[in-house]
Amino acid sequence: MDTIAGMTEFNAPIELNDGVSMPRIGYGTYKVGDDKARQTVETALELGYRLVDTAEMYGNEVGVGSAVANSGLPRADVFLTSKLWNDHHGYDSARRALEASLEHLGTDYIDLYMIHWPSPKQDLYVETFQALLKAKEEGLIRSAGVSNFLPEHLERVKDETGAWPSVNQVELHPYFNQPRLRAWHAERGIATESWGPLGQRTGSLLHERAVVDAATAHEKTAAQVVIRWHLQRECVVIPKSSHTERIAENLQVFDFALTEEELDAIDALETGERQGIDPGGHER
Ligand code: NAD
Repeated sequence: MDTIAGMTEFNAPIELNDGVSMPRIGYGTYKVGDDKARQTVETALELGYRLVDTAEMYGNEVGVGSAVANSGLPRADVFLTSKLWNDHHGYDSARRALEASLEHLGTDYIDLYMIHWPSPKQDLYVETFQALLKAKEEGLIRSAGVSNFLPEHLERVKDETGAWPSVNQVELHPYFNQPRLRAWHAERGIATESWGPLGQRTGSLLHERAVVDAATAHEKTAAQVVIRWHLQRECVVIPKSSHTERIAENLQVFDFALTEEELDAIDALETGERQGIDPGGHER
């Protein structure tokens, strides 16, 4: 398989607030089981993806790790991200979760390790983040991030640990495009990473007129237009597919650029409604 080459600045990594370089596009692995991950992650790496997003909760870290090992790529060429689950909040528990993830992934370090949800009801996310900062000092992780954090959670982390997380991975797609949070992150040097980028839970995003018109104009697919919208809106994006053709298609987004009008028309799809859980709630 040929590696897909890119032509624009969005093909270059972004520099996180701790100096670590992170690819702007990656392969997401939610709901890809261990066996399938072994195969699809290897395919993604062969096709040119260099960022892989997993989590303790996905139950596929062993598959992801063996795909990285089988890829033949030097470990340093792959940016591995994982996340600790909600029952591992607290300093010691977070540490144990990290050690288990390292073992499952078969690696000495994780490039970006994140707290999956703030779980405000437990009120332990600051202590959990302290464990991540300590692990960073020790070289077990290169960068300490979070996921599904609201500004109030991020501010407490900064106030009580002195450090902003490097990345906040949040639900973000044209139906819920979070302009205020993106601007808030940018002012503080926090990178925004989009989960659920194709907004597939309602199944209609890829049929929206603004998306289809741009796809026709650029002779690209609707998914490529949406992925490109994320990149041009300065978000790291991690689309997931289990099909080789789509895994390849989702990376072919560096040979065209959306116009300001097209970007604005896609922004206008905003509904103000999440498709996933509200991180400020007490469900987690
Ligand atoms: P996604 O937006 O990437 O959509 C995935 C679905 O879109 C696939 O199941 C597939 O049916 C479809 N799709 C993919 N490529 C397509 C194409 N080219 N054409 C048409 N349809 C296509 O959703 P996701 O998997 O929920 O999110 C991406 C990644 O984000 C996950 O795999 C996971 O790594 C991460 N994630 C993180 C959290 C979190 O709480 N931090 C939550 C959900 C997902």
